[in-house]
Amino acid sequence: MVKKVLIIGGGIGGLSTAIALRRAGIDVDLVEIKTEWKVYHVGIIVQGNFIRAMAALGIADQAVAEGFPYFGVKFQTIHGHPVAEIPGIPMAGPNYPTDLGMGRPALHKILSETALELGTKVRLGVTFTAIQQNETSATVTFTDGTSGEYDLVIGADGVHSKVRSAIFGDEHQPKFTGQGVWRYNIKRPESLDVAVLCVGLEGGKCGAIPLSEDTGYVLLVQAEPGNPHHPEDKLADIFRERLAACTGMMAELRDQITDSSLVIYRPLEALLMPAPWHKGRVLLIGDAAHSTTPHLGQGAAQAVEDGVVLGELLQRDETLQILLDEFMQRRFERCKFIVEGSLQLGEWELNLSPEADPPGLTRKMLGVMAQPI
Ligand SMILES: Cc1cc2nc3c(=O)[nH]c(=O)nc-3n(C[C@H](O)[C@H](O)[C@H](O)COP(=O)(O)OP(=O)(O)OC[C@H]3O[C@@H](n4cnc5c(N)ncnc54)[C@H](O)[C@@H]3O)c2cc1C
Repeated sequence: MVKKVLIIGGGIGGLSTAIALRRAGIDVDLVEIKTEWKVYHVGIIVQGNFIRAMAALGIADQAVAEGFPYFGVKFQTIHGHPVAEIPGIPMAGPNYPTDLGMGRPALHKILSETALELGTKVRLGVTFTAIQQNETSATVTFTDGTSGEYDLVIGADGVHSKVRSAIFGDEHQPKFTGQGVWRYNIKRPESLDVAVLCVGLEGGKCGAIPLSEDTGYVLLVQAEPGNPHHPEDKLADIFRERLAACTGMMAELRDQITDSSLVIYRPLEALLMPAPWHKGRVLLIGDAAHSTTPHLGQGAAQAVEDGVVLGELLQRDETLQILLDEFMQRRFERCKFIVEGSLQLGEWELNLSPEADPPGLTRKMLGVMAQPI
């Protein structure tokens, strides 16, 4: 039986896994490299399968209360003309919304507080220096000079995972997709009560997402040829200029983008590790194994689902090999579908393909995500 687990990385996937494992009665140590356990201030879009996974962790009500619940997504032009409306699928049952906008800090607070309340032993400002494995355990040494022995080590250290490099080699690196994402928190107008995505911008799209009663955020996804470094003090100007063609609601929201220090810009990267994501007693989860672009709004959901599935499997009295193989059977194709579908949306935006069908792919994705995990 798996009795003691180390999780490396205290982000969305690591914390969800800690909650699931603690609920299964497993001892959990978690090390997080940041000394200050903070996340940046903008938000995420999540759908019914995220809410269903949060329900499995026992924290869906808190998530919905701290976010902005809504139903479906609206596609429109940058001038506000409707293009398509996709209803969400109530995957978490009739008492929950189909979609949720959420500030990252609000999600982090719920996950970190729950993991700590359930008895996860968290050390901040600490990471691993070496992982040695034998038939019966993995011994890990840490940067604080300590060491520990574990039945399983979980690498949940994100897209630039050091656990991945240490165990699987440096050849698995995320690739820049050719686009970048710009985000800025805004005061939510009453009319912004559902996710709005605007098509018709060259090389990408823009949109706005409600995050709470008072706040929302504006997003812009665009081609970034050569992956440039944008000057920090010009980010707000560049963001506004790139939304110059918008009229209506997007133009009003654009004018709120004034402080460069509050603009969050990220080049988009993706990586799908080939199966299996485990070697011996070390397993990769979340972005370390399957980092996706945000086009389908599914990265967080996939990381939380990894934790939920592990929580179910590790309660069983089977060999670790059998359990990890079953984990791969339940997770690989689903995560692959998301990474590839998300990349497809980005390519359509970059190449203005006549076959492009973002609403169609979004509908298909929701159908796949509604399947049990
Ligand atoms: C621009 C952008 C927008 C996105 N928008 C959405 C969205 O709208 N909806 C959605 O569902 N998803 C979205 N995502 C994806 C989502 O953020 C990720 O899929 C999710 O955070 C993955 O969780 P994770 O725990 O695997 O990684 P992370 O959340 O990145 O957590 C990794 C953690 O590990 C820590 N760490 C790193 N290295 C080490 C180390 N060596 N030792 C110890 N700790 C370490 C980090 O500090 C961090 O706390 C977006 C991603 C990007 C880049």
